[in-house]
Order: sequence, then structure tokens, then C-alpha cells
Amino acid sequence: MVARTGRMSVLLLFCACTAHPPPAGATPSAQADRPPALPPVAQPVARPARVTFLPTSVPQGSLVVGLTDPEARVEYDGHTLRVSPQGRFVFGIGRDATGPAVVRIVQANGQVLVQRIAVTPRDWPVERVSGVPPKTVDPPRAIAERIAREQAEVTDARRRDDARDDFAQTFVWPVQGRISGRFGNQRVYNGTPKSPHSGMDIAAANGTPVKAPAGGMVTYANPDMYLTGGTILIDHGHGVSSNFLHLSRLDVKIGDRVEQGQTIGAVGATGRATGPHLHWGMNWFTTRIDPLLLVGHGP
Ligand SMILES: [Zn+2]
Repeated sequence: MVARTGRMSVLLLFCACTAHPPPAGATPSAQADRPPALPPVAQPVARPARVTFLPTSVPQGSLVVGLTDPEARVEYDGHTLRVSPQGRFVFGIGRDATGPAVVRIVQANGQVLVQRIAVTPRDWPVERVSGVPPKTVDPPRAIAERIAREQAEVTDARRRDDARDDFAQTFVWPVQGRISGRFGNQRVYNGTPKSPHSGMDIAAANGTPVKAPAGGMVTYANPDMYLTGGTILIDHGHGVSSNFLHLSRLDVKIGDRVEQGQTIGAVGATGRATGPHLHWGMNWFTTRIDPLLLVGHGP
């Protein structure tokens, strides 16, 4: 009998300090000296703060996935981030970000958390690529308009902020092969310095099937872009997207739902390429991130 009473009081104590407010009329005497409580309308919702999970440090080019109160407001770099019903949110750290990345979270109970995430710098070696078609290094003036139009179409596709949270899956390699070009490296094509490499190149034979690294929706598919050749974009939700370039074949069309591991096309050497390989790029909206950080260091 004594033991049962003891167990019940422990249980009651546990409940009282987590979710349930004390019963009405059970105000402890210690509160008698405090100023009167605010009127109920000004009270925040009586619920406990949820634990927030965020890394304390990430390398440049990272995709950061956090977890918090599903009803929280999460702000990062001028964006209000979408928070999933499970409390997941995501954002990208650019190649040239210096940090700290500051995330501000206002939970439904009013608690505010400001987390500073250190950004560790990386080395960006120079990569010299020779033997690409000269017309793709210095495109003729006449096709500048075509390149700009194609780029605008891709940028548009990257503006989506869909509620799907496919990005929370563990990404898998879209093809198996040697890494022949790394994200972020300074590119020099046929001796001409160009923008940093925006993704990861994986050497593979022409026609090798390319698999979706995570589920998502096809938001762009073009078999013949001037610089990137056969091109597919997959949206993974919350602004996260993958792009697959230089494809010899496209097996999906805009609006298709794809599952992780599904074949979406085939490796090729179309556009600005020296030989067959897959260029796999990833974005958080327009911020480019490093796919290698999502899949580890070897296929
Ligand atoms: Zn590439």
C-alpha cells in the first residue's frame, strides 16, 4: 500500500513537470506573494518547449537539416523556413559562406532560441579541364539569348518551396563510379577561368542508368540544353533540389513523381563535357551545396 502511494506520487510529479498545468484551485502557497497573473488572453499556450536539434558546426557547402517544434517559426538568413508536421526544416550553407550561420527559432510557447552554427572553411583547388568543345567555353554571341533563357527556366524551377520532405531521406549515389570532378573547385576550361564547379562529376560509361538519389518530383526536363545537354531537375521539398546534367537519355518528364533508386535517365556527354560522366548538382533554392556531403566519401 505504501509502495503504491509512492509510485503514484512519482508519476504525478513527472506529469506535472512536463505537459499538464496544475489543476484549477491548486495554486501553491508560494505563489501568494507574486504579482497577479496576466489575463489569460496574453498567456502563451501552456505547452512545454520542444528540444531543437541542430549541428554546432558544418563545412562550407552543407545541407543542414534541423528538428524542432512543428509549430515553431524558424528564420535563417532572411528566410522564414518551412517546418514539416514532424518539425523538420532545412537550409543550405554556400561554398563561400564564412559563418556563423544564425538560426532563430520561436516556439509555439514563446520560447526563443538563437543558435549560431560555425562554418568550417574548405580548400578549393583549381581544376583544369581541357578538350571541351570550344563553342561551350566561349559561346557565340548569337546563342547568348538561348543560354540566358535556359538558365532562367532552371532558376524558376529552383524557386519552389513544396511541403514534401523527401530531403530527409538518406541520399544514395545516382551512379557508381570514380569522382572525376569535385564541388566548388575553381574550373579552368581549355585555359579559360570559369565559375567554380557547381556539383560533383562521376565518371561512368555512356548509357549507364542514372537513379534518383532520393524521392521527389521532376520539375525540369530538357534533352538539349546548350551548356548542360540532357538535363533533369528533381525537387525534394522545402527548396532542396538535385540536377543531373550531360544525360544521353531522359526517362522522366516534368510533373513525374520519382522514388529513390528509380531510373530517371542515362549517362552521356552532351553539352560542355569532355566525355561520358554524370554531373550531379544540388541546391537549396539558388544556393549550391555539395552532394558528396550527403552520401559520404565513396560510392
Ligand atoms: Zn560537372
